[in-house]
Amino acid sequence: MACKKCSIDPVISRRYSGEVLCERCFFKSFEKNAIKELRSQINVLIKNSDIQIKRIGIGLSGGKDSTVALKILDYYSKERDIEIVGLSVDEGIEDYRSDSLECARKSCESFNVPLRIFSYKELIGMTLGELLISNPPDASPCSPCGILRRRSLNQMAKNADVDCMVLGHNLDDFSQTVLMNHSRGDISRLSRMAPHRSVQKGFIPRLLPLRRLPEQEVYLYALLNNMDFHEGTCPYAGKAQRNLFRKLLMDLEQKQPGTRHSLLSGMEKIRENVELPSEISSCPSCGEPSGGSGPCVFCREFSSFVA
Ligand code: SF4
Repeated sequence: MACKKCSIDPVISRRYSGEVLCERCFFKSFEKNAIKELRSQINVLIKNSDIQIKRIGIGLSGGKDSTVALKILDYYSKERDIEIVGLSVDEGIEDYRSDSLECARKSCESFNVPLRIFSYKELIGMTLGELLISNPPDASPCSPCGILRRRSLNQMAKNADVDCMVLGHNLDDFSQTVLMNHSRGDISRLSRMAPHRSVQKGFIPRLLPLRRLPEQEVYLYALLNNMDFHEGTCPYAGKAQRNLFRKLLMDLEQKQPGTRHSLLSGMEKIRENVELPSEISSCPSCGEPSGGSGPCVFCREFSSFVA
C-alpha cells in the first residue's frame, strides 16, 4: 500500500488511525502533532498562571526521546524567540550514563543550546551504584532513582531560572504511567501528572510535547533524521516495575489499537473533573513541594545523606 497523499512508498502504517504515510508526510504529521501539543500546553500554562515564557529547560538524557523533543522545542523557540537550556542528570551509572551524556552534549552543540549537568554525587554525596550497595532498596532501583532524578531536575531548572521544563516522554511512557496510577487507585497522582497546567510555588512545571506520539514513531523519526542519540539501556532497567505495564499495554495495543491514546484521553477527562488543592504543600524541612502536609519523599528517604 502506498502513501494516500503522495502515492509513494510508505515508511509507516499507523494501526491506531489507519494512516499510511511516506517519509515526507510522516515528518509533517509528527512535527505538527508535537508542536501543536507543546503550543497548547504552554498556552494553558500562560492562561492559568498569567506568566510569560522566555526561557525553557529541557531534560536531556541523550536518548532518542529527549533528542527528538529538543528538535521540536528548537522549532517552537524560533517561532517565539525563546531561550533553551539543556538539563542533564548524571546518576553515575557505570558503562551507561557517560556515553549518553556525550550524546546530550553533541545534540546541545548542534542546536547551539547550553547544557547543565547535575549529579547524584552532588545531591547526596554518592552515585546511584554506591547508594544501591549501601542502602539496597526493597523494590526496584528505579524507586530511589526516580525520587533523586525529580529532585535533581527541579533543582537544576530553578537554578537555571527557566519558566518551564520540557521532557521527552512519549505516548508509551505516558500511558504506562496512567495505567500504573489506575492500578493503584491513585487518582490524586493521576491528576497531578505532567503536563502541568499551572505554576506551583517551588516547582517548575513540566511539559510533554511527545506524549501523543508512540515510542516506535519517535524512534523512526530520530532514525530517518539521522539524529545522533544514545541507544544503550540502563543496566537496572530490567528490574523496573513499569516493565509489567509495558508488556500489558503492548499486548492490549496489539489486540485493540488505540488503547494508549484512550488511556491518555481518559486521564484528561478525570483531570477535568477532579478538584485539586489550589497549592501543592511545601515540605516543612526543605521547602520543596510535598505530596502531603509532612516532609517530602526526598527528605523522608534521603535527609541523612544531605550535609
Ligand atoms: S532505568 Fe531505573 S535506575 Fe536506570 S536510570 Fe531509569 S529510573 Fe534510574
